[in-house]
Amino acid sequence: MSVDSSVEVNGATQVVGVIGWPVQHSLSPPMHNAAFRALGLNWVYVAFAVHPDNVEAAIAGMRALGLPGLNVTIPHKAAVVSHLDEISPTSQQLGVVNTIVNSDGHLRGDSTDGSGFMRALEEAGEGITDNRVVLIGAGGAARAVALAAAQEQPEELVIVNRTLQRAVEIAELVRAADGLEAVRAIALDSPEVAQVVSSANLIIDSTPVGMYPHADVAPVISPQWLRPCQLVCDLTYNPRETVLLQAAREAGARILDGTGMLVHQGAVAFEQWTGQQAPVEVMRLALLNALERQDDRRKP
Ligand code: NAP
Repeated sequence: MSVDSSVEVNGATQVVGVIGWPVQHSLSPPMHNAAFRALGLNWVYVAFAVHPDNVEAAIAGMRALGLPGLNVTIPHKAAVVSHLDEISPTSQQLGVVNTIVNSDGHLRGDSTDGSGFMRALEEAGEGITDNRVVLIGAGGAARAVALAAAQEQPEELVIVNRTLQRAVEIAELVRAADGLEAVRAIALDSPEVAQVVSSANLIIDSTPVGMYPHADVAPVISPQWLRPCQLVCDLTYNPRETVLLQAAREAGARILDGTGMLVHQGAVAFEQWTGQQAPVEVMRLALLNALERQDDRRKP
């Protein structure tokens, strides 16, 4: 797709962005700005560093300035909820919002992480339905992925976490939300984990184990449990190939890194704001270039 470089910031430019604290390392500005240029849209995407004390004021500012959309990142995803007019069913279940759409002053919050992951999985030619799925980790990303996955009726969903109670809470959330009975929680140090992982079709690591700057660590699960027939996904996107994905590749398994989810959660937000289909390949290229530039800056 050609990039329209004729779009300039002027009096008609629509401003969207991300609020977070800190936020200057966000990869969303290059990704969305590339998409706006590719479609010839007179929009810009910027990062707003909003101190936690100023979340309410920032949302009031969004209304006052008529910003058509915002992304919300750490640590504001839960804090924005009470300042919005409507919360999507997904965000109600998760208790967090990562995307706000402003329709004539009516602010609606949604969470696009789960649908972003599902689109990335579909792109990899894989699905959840009738598969045995193991989800490692029970933080914010895991909650979003678990809820989205449960809607697709896996044969079984096993949530494995270092802190068992957090996995139990997600299993209960999924049961209550989707009526999925075949969901259970086990502790990461349980002897059962080896068998559960080895017999899964789909393994999703939602922990930050292996994430920059601690990339050179042992994977969160033993590489000996991985099988060639499996798809192993890691939500971490920096580095793209984490220690777990390296181990999975060596075991002959298929792998899916976290960049697909990152691109697609952004694409869903883009579509909600603009009403246009997101140019996913343009966004992916911009994201990968931005990740490369970040890597270059970090080199000694
Ligand atoms: P989070 O809320 O802090 O949750 C982290 C989870 O990982 C917790 O369940 C924690 O276990 C577990 N964990 C942390 N360190 C561990 C260790 N050393 N060994 C075993 N388990 C460990 O984090 P999050 O927001 O869910 O993010 C998790 C990862 O997903 C990050 O790498 C993030 O970059 C990535 N992510 C990617 C996308 C994407 O679009 N690709 C989107 C969101 C997040 P405890 O419960 O025991 O503390």
